[in-house]
Amino acid sequence: MAWFKRESSGARGPQNEDSHTVRTEGLWLKCEGCREIIWKKDLETTFNVCGKCGHHFRLDARARLTMLFDDGVYEEHDASLESSDPLGFVDSKPYKERLKATEAATHLKDALIAATGKLAGRKVNICAMEPKFIGGSMGAVTGEKITRAIERSIASHTPLIVVSASGGARMQEGAVSLMQMAKVSAALMRLDESHLPYISVLTDPTTGGVTASFAMLGDLNIAEPGALIGFAGPRVIEQSIRQKLPEGFQRSEFLLKHGMLDAVVARGEMKAYLATALDFFLGESVEPMNDAA
Ligand SMILES: [Zn+2]
Repeated sequence: MAWFKRESSGARGPQNEDSHTVRTEGLWLKCEGCREIIWKKDLETTFNVCGKCGHHFRLDARARLTMLFDDGVYEEHDASLESSDPLGFVDSKPYKERLKATEAATHLKDALIAATGKLAGRKVNICAMEPKFIGGSMGAVTGEKITRAIERSIASHTPLIVVSASGGARMQEGAVSLMQMAKVSAALMRLDESHLPYISVLTDPTTGGVTASFAMLGDLNIAEPGALIGFAGPRVIEQSIRQKLPEGFQRSEFLLKHGMLDAVVARGEMKAYLATALDFFLGESVEPMNDAA
């Protein structure tokens, strides 16, 4: 649950203003919304939503799936797929080493978990992106896993939900990662032709090539409160249009107001909202609720 440590990662000395968040050895953290000190255990019970102000902290992919699937039970697919480092890429360190280190830290081989289970009694495929895996970036494995999930949805006549949390395409895979945008979009077209619903859930952050492809292609595009959603970052935009951007630009609420999203849904209401939406698309679930396992 170390997402928020990033906020204080610059805190090295005891003089630093944020140093008390480091001194507590990770038991407490300061809410980015209300600046109150929160006990981390409390946050776990609310799936990382501040009980005082409702601020939504980032949530890792496993916790996300546990929250959405009935009884937290799901079957994972393609967990062994890993990047072949097609470009032999080296930045501050070789990409292969970066992948190994990230795998050790997250126990994942790439930035997305594809799973099947039941949501309010209905069989669904859910893909959840992992923001801690190289910024939730999309490389060939992410694209392939989503494409396979789409194909599973078509084969089993099952709706699809993708929960995005991504910095965009993965730099270390260059054009290969950009091609995933076209690949996933084409697969979503086939899902559409099969008359199966796809709901895109955008969480903090959803940017770059992920926003520019599957995250905005849902039959419903819904976001969590306060999520950063955009293509390029605000500084790049300000520099290219030479205008100051309005307050709250690129946050969920702003995008909803300007017609880019269908709804902003709090994390605590997300599962019920998805269940209602799927009922709307497909008719009420034919399977009895007690068949959840
Ligand atoms: Zn708060």
